[in-house]
Amino acid sequence: MTATTWDAIFVGAGITSLACAAMLVKRDPWARVLMIDKHIVVGGYASTFSRPRQSAVFDCSLHKLSGMAQGGNLIRILRDLGLDKELDLVYPDDYFCAYQEGTALPLANDAELVEQQLIERFPHQAAPLRTFFAQVGTYGRNGYYQFQMLDGSFEPDMAELRWAHRNLKHKTVHEALHEMFDDPYLIEILAAPGIYVGGYPEDLGYLYYLHVVYATLNRGNAYVKGASQRLSDLLASRVEQAGGQILLSTLVEEVTTDKLGRVTGVRTRAGEYLAPQVFINTSPHYALEHLFKSDVDLSESREKLAALKPARSTTTIYLITDVAPEQLGLCHSESMLFAANPAAASSLRIEAERSGYPPALCEQAFWAMSPIEVTNYHLLAPEAGKVVCINVLDSIEHWPARRTAQYRKKKQRASELLIDRLQAQFPGLRGHILHTEVATPHTYVRFTNNTAGSGYGAMVGTDLKGHVFHHGFPVQGVQFLSAWVAGPSYEAAFGYAEMKARQWRRA
Ligand SMILES: Cc1cc2nc3c(=O)[nH]c(=O)nc-3n(C[C@H](O)[C@H](O)[C@H](O)COP(=O)(O)OP(=O)(O)OC[C@H]3O[C@@H](n4cnc5c(N)ncnc54)[C@H](O)[C@@H]3O)c2cc1C
Repeated sequence: MTATTWDAIFVGAGITSLACAAMLVKRDPWARVLMIDKHIVVGGYASTFSRPRQSAVFDCSLHKLSGMAQGGNLIRILRDLGLDKELDLVYPDDYFCAYQEGTALPLANDAELVEQQLIERFPHQAAPLRTFFAQVGTYGRNGYYQFQMLDGSFEPDMAELRWAHRNLKHKTVHEALHEMFDDPYLIEILAAPGIYVGGYPEDLGYLYYLHVVYATLNRGNAYVKGASQRLSDLLASRVEQAGGQILLSTLVEEVTTDKLGRVTGVRTRAGEYLAPQVFINTSPHYALEHLFKSDVDLSESREKLAALKPARSTTTIYLITDVAPEQLGLCHSESMLFAANPAAASSLRIEAERSGYPPALCEQAFWAMSPIEVTNYHLLAPEAGKVVCINVLDSIEHWPARRTAQYRKKKQRASELLIDRLQAQFPGLRGHILHTEVATPHTYVRFTNNTAGSGYGAMVGTDLKGHVFHHGFPVQGVQFLSAWVAGPSYEAAFGYAEMKARQWRRA
């Protein structure tokens, strides 16, 4: 296969890459596509790993596909690909259940119901809650249909766009919610969907966040039986059925170029592969640092890229229980556990960042005080085992290097503290956890090469200048295709991939 010419090469077979390649070969069945990934399975974060002795399969990322109800972008694209019939979709009853100090507030998977439920629980905040949900329904909706706006199939109200641009674009979630609400617990609950895109309220732009709420709540969400791996495998099989090839366990070492500044293909240890178009699915920071030879002048792109901040990384605890988790008290597919004094967490996180991420302060701020997201996978897909996952947004900065004694101790501390928080809320779990594993920001770097272990690509804050780093990229024929340019989430991946596939022309 060495020196075979392809029409396009994809560096990485994460979900954005797979979705784009599958759509590309559907539009152009004669296109010769090669995908290369360093991992042993396709999907990147959209993959699973199993523990056969415990009969358990862990999903590396997915717990919620957004945009899966009527009017949703993702379900439309899956239908276009004919995948909706092949995917066994599960629509959970809850958006999530909020817990704080022993109290539970289940939120339904329906925007109007959630508004009512929150007004009932926080009657003194009824007026701003109505304003908030109206903003989700207008400005969140406009953001959600951004790709349709570009192709002319969605016409927004220009006055709404102008108002949002003037009044909302420069605010963080923290600022906007604090202007509207004065109940700290309600603010935390409303800010929690930011976790789906790797940001705390002080990190995320409010306008962007409104679209995240709209996508996950107003446009419906679902899980896939067979986990994210099923989705990735189906996309991969579409590519292969069209004559494309997927090389696994193969690290791309270089994106090759000619003297005229055009891409010529990629180099791996297994050989060189030629193509006039290369789609880069890895983090752009990684790509610019490792994949181009030093004679390619990337100084301008590097300068722009410096402004692109990674979203938060994640520390994940994977658990297997001996009894179905719902019988032990975890009766919702997703739970958000909030600390007693949520407002203090934000100040501590800011303080941690300002003071250079001292480990003890970070552990307090990120693990002990910040919300944790818990998925009871057994309620979504019991065939994958009695699996529960805890996720907390974290920073790689306070983690020592892998394979050191301090790293192992820190993993142990993370596991104990987060499981303690879980068991404080669900005491029925005590004595029923059979198996525990921890993934840290370093684990995520190791498996995906994503900068700082970010599973959500770039942080979408209020300053978006870094997001155009790829405009005017000096190597002709190179395109970037990942959460770093599409935005975090499977739905964003498919939306961006669809746009790229539509722009596809064979060179
Ligand atoms: C814990 C967690 C939970 C999440 N939950 C959800 C959720 O419920 N719903 C949702 O919509 N989104 C969720 N997300 C976000 C979502 O998973 C990501 O946005 C998405 O999977 C990113 O896909 P990607 O295409 O950018 O590629 P990635 O998954 O980052 O894949 C990049 C690929 O490139 C490969 N690669 C890197 N370097 C090289 C190289 N040199 N040579 C060859 N291959 C290389 C890697 O092996 C990898 O396969 C979650 C993320 C995390 C971390």
